[in-house]
Amino acid sequence: MCNHKIRTRYAPSPTGYMHVGNLRTALYAYLIAKHENGTFILRIEDTDQERYVEGAVDVIYNTMKITGLIHDEGPDKGGPVGPYVQSERKPIYMEYAKKLVDKGEAYYCFCSKERLDMLKANAEALKRPFKYDKHCMHLSKEEVEEKLAAGVPYVIRQNNPTEGTTTFDDVIYGTISVDNSELEDMILIKSDGYPTYNFANVVDDHLMGITHVVRGSEYLSSSPKYNRLYEAFGWDIPVYVHCPPIMKDAQHKLSKRNGDASFEDLIAKGYLKDAVMNYIALLGWNPGNTQEIFSLEELVNIFDYRQINKAPAIFDPIKLKWMNGEYIRKLTLEEFHEMALPYYKEAIKNSNIDLMKVSKLLHTRTEVLGEIPEQIDFFDVLPEYSNDLYIHKKMKTNLENSLESLEKVLPLFETIENWDFNTLHDSILKLVEEMGIKNGVMLWPIRTALSGKAFTPGGAFELAEILGKEESIRRIKIGIDKLKNA
Ligand code: GLU
Repeated sequence: MCNHKIRTRYAPSPTGYMHVGNLRTALYAYLIAKHENGTFILRIEDTDQERYVEGAVDVIYNTMKITGLIHDEGPDKGGPVGPYVQSERKPIYMEYAKKLVDKGEAYYCFCSKERLDMLKANAEALKRPFKYDKHCMHLSKEEVEEKLAAGVPYVIRQNNPTEGTTTFDDVIYGTISVDNSELEDMILIKSDGYPTYNFANVVDDHLMGITHVVRGSEYLSSSPKYNRLYEAFGWDIPVYVHCPPIMKDAQHKLSKRNGDASFEDLIAKGYLKDAVMNYIALLGWNPGNTQEIFSLEELVNIFDYRQINKAPAIFDPIKLKWMNGEYIRKLTLEEFHEMALPYYKEAIKNSNIDLMKVSKLLHTRTEVLGEIPEQIDFFDVLPEYSNDLYIHKKMKTNLENSLESLEKVLPLFETIENWDFNTLHDSILKLVEEMGIKNGVMLWPIRTALSGKAFTPGGAFELAEILGKEESIRRIKIGIDKLKNA
């Protein structure tokens, strides 16, 4: 195995969205290959014709392209072991299934749905897991030929032993043994002639020379059956790297059904792709030190799949947010501005607002771009607010001293010619000094009158500068009126 160049594959089913767990599998498979200058392959697993979703393959291509998980071989790139789309490989699976039938490792099953339903109902009544009873394995060769000739619908099943044990090794989960009595004679070829995932993954991984199979831990329990297939064919068993489940909390898996994170959802919410990839890398792996911020190149250099944990990984939205904030701060102001513009347009219609100034304010204060509109909507229109906002214990403000501060700052605002941060800063603080009050007693009421909000990005000076002289004066006057009528 050591002399082999590493070959990994990402083998998504085109479902139309990219679940965070799938993206992590893709990332780990990519890192494992690239860490050793190996080959990363994309294979589309579309044999479940009922689940076909229009445009779903494009979602896969796009996600891989923008996240930088560039495959070396795949449907769009070709390569020596194509086709790379399972539906285009249909005859291959049948050919290999027949080889197993010839060896007695698989058999045709003609059981009707009614018979299978009855078996299932029986199993349920006995509270046992359903297992096919090998009824059709006992058909003679002639009986099989006859039914095939008569066009009776069939599936092909794996013929598993009922005694003994089967063992397999996983890099992350160790050696796992199961009793063969637990192995279901799983279907290899379905009645529509397509292979099941269970069969196709083994045939393809072998024919495509995959050395390391990277996938979610939900496939662990099927792996003994896959090993039996490899052995039946006389093929080398690949290195298995099953990745731990990604949980929403201690009990629940992160799942699409619960409306949980897909890559597209996160991007739409204003997460940066690099932050998402960085965060996903840490779902089940860490470098063994405290470093948490990694570029894809750094990950390629240091990723060691033997360090993947088997403990379930918890998807922590707070940590993801923090990390996204770190990535936002690494952008230049211009890059940030470019990315923030669509969010400004949602909240600010007033063309007098200098959006570059808003960017200067938000660049260091934003964790997720999608939160921008609610942070800045007050620039556009002063919201209705309650006078209670003026009362702040720590700032030592109440309705009376707030009114006094606003009444003092209004004439000052009217005289300021150079309406910029520094002038506002110096002249307001001068006024504070003259009045002999604490800064907060002046700044809190100004900020409140200008925004009508308890929380704003930036304080009085920044808000006044962005709103401009005329609008700031108008809002201070509104504040004075409200406080007078209190
Ligand atoms: N097509 C499977 C899925 O999308 C891939 C599993 C594997 O990587 O083998 O879950």
